[in-house]
Amino acid sequence: MHCLLARHFAHHRAIFARSAFSTQRVDARASNIWDALNSTVEGRLRASVPFARPCFTLASVDIGSFNPIECTNITQNYLDHFTRSRTFGAYMNTQWETCQQRSTQCLLDDTLPNNTAAYNPPQSCAQGSIPNYYVEVAKVSDVQAAVVFAKNNSIPLVIKNTGAGANFDVLYQFADANNITLPGAEDLTVGAGGGYLMGGGHSALSPVYGLAVDRVLEFEVVVASGQVLVANRCQNSDLFFALRGGGGGTFGVVTQITTLALPQVSLSTVVVGYQSTPEKERAFVEFLVEHAMEYANQGWGGYATPKTGLILTTPLLNLTAAEAAMASLQNFTNNTLGGFFTLNSYPSYLSFFQTSLAPYPVPVGLPFIFASRLVPTANFETKKNRNLLVEAMIPSFETASLPIILLVAPYLYNYQGGTSVTDAWRSSLWHVAIADFWNYDTTYGQREQIYASATSSMAPLRALTPKSGAYQVGIFREIQNAMY
Ligand SMILES: Cc1cc2nc3c(=O)[nH]c(=O)nc-3n(C[C@H](O)[C@H](O)[C@H](O)COP(=O)(O)OP(=O)(O)OC[C@H]3O[C@@H](n4cnc5c(N)ncnc54)[C@H](O)[C@@H]3O)c2cc1C
Repeated sequence: MHCLLARHFAHHRAIFARSAFSTQRVDARASNIWDALNSTVEGRLRASVPFARPCFTLASVDIGSFNPIECTNITQNYLDHFTRSRTFGAYMNTQWETCQQRSTQCLLDDTLPNNTAAYNPPQSCAQGSIPNYYVEVAKVSDVQAAVVFAKNNSIPLVIKNTGAGANFDVLYQFADANNITLPGAEDLTVGAGGGYLMGGGHSALSPVYGLAVDRVLEFEVVVASGQVLVANRCQNSDLFFALRGGGGGTFGVVTQITTLALPQVSLSTVVVGYQSTPEKERAFVEFLVEHAMEYANQGWGGYATPKTGLILTTPLLNLTAAEAAMASLQNFTNNTLGGFFTLNSYPSYLSFFQTSLAPYPVPVGLPFIFASRLVPTANFETKKNRNLLVEAMIPSFETASLPIILLVAPYLYNYQGGTSVTDAWRSSLWHVAIADFWNYDTTYGQREQIYASATSSMAPLRALTPKSGAYQVGIFREIQNAMY
């Protein structure tokens, strides 16, 4: 295959974690060191304010104030992906804005953001888990300064990738304009060179073209000493291996990546939607399990939500071949689900994304738990195994708010080794997940229950796939410990 090279820049903010250095404890010496850092980064050290701060008259945070005009703007954009991505004190999933152990936060009602009950007294805005200070990174030397400062002063440091530089919205447009394809996340605000890449990075095209870690050729990274290193197959190859799947924020701050791009591809895409009932949902899951191997061999990748439908795409079949391949799904949709079925061909990944994925955005601006399991190909190979798989999935699908089947495992990709992402990806066909959500007024006990129920909902799948793994898990105790 003809491959092109594309460079992505991973701009980000280096953040100083709140726990080690709250502003109340700033003494004269500390004030001097922060001033010195601020001068090294040319005034780009900032104090951070929780996103919803202007809505609250009561607050325990040190800066910001009640501002009704700003509050109206915030309530109108509280669930907006791009506003959250641009705003330092906002996170996509708001459990990360919250200190869950102490139940301190500055959240609005995510079902009705202008609900005054969430922000009028006695509700009070707290800093939660949002760090007090951050550096608005403009160049690599800012990252070096932040890393060295954190090391010398024993201050915890985290990295927030998005807000500047190359997110997928910019890259999809760039790729389209330059006749290449850069497969990426299903949300335009995900950063191309940060947590997405270092966690593996799956897309609707990964069944054919591999995970994002499979295509990256080189990293530029600031390591804990403050040194800037280049990591590729020849230089710092151990670091190159670790960064290709070892998780974001673990081995350094990535400042630039070089990755393989694909030529422009046309994509045959099928969309199914239906009104679910428990019987139809079960029939839909059974149908998908029955046809999983066939679809995987035809290169179909994408997302199925058992309660609503699916979006699948393949670069391997033209429209005529795709219509033949999907004839039984069309028949099933019409006769059993009573839903709608469309099949189209798109000339590029961007046009596929805009017409097929963008209308169904992943919800953001609310706290949530995600539990997942990678399901090996072997679980689809015999009728007995397929039946066992259906029975393991259905109970958790029925109780979870948002069950999702991600057809994103790199099944057809010719893996050559060299990545640190879990090997479970390489033998899997599906990535099965459930998400559950809560709101600003959920108690500690209720949240604990939601975490426990999400975790246990994957138990039958875990038992059925004992040697497999997960893409992302959220265990309440681990999250608590990670925060404080
Ligand atoms: C709406 C939505 C849709 C998503 N869709 C997909 C999808 O289609 N496919 C998929 O695989 N995943 C998807 N994800 C998951 C996503 O990949 C992870 O949330 C990922 O961690 C986001 O990375 P980020 O760099 O954009 O975010 P951040 O929150 O900034 O970073 C995440 C982690 O990576 C670290 N990190 C960030 N930047 C760097 C850097 N430059 N160097 C070193 N460490 C860094 C951070 O410290 C943090 O630990 C989605 C998430 C959301 C919220």
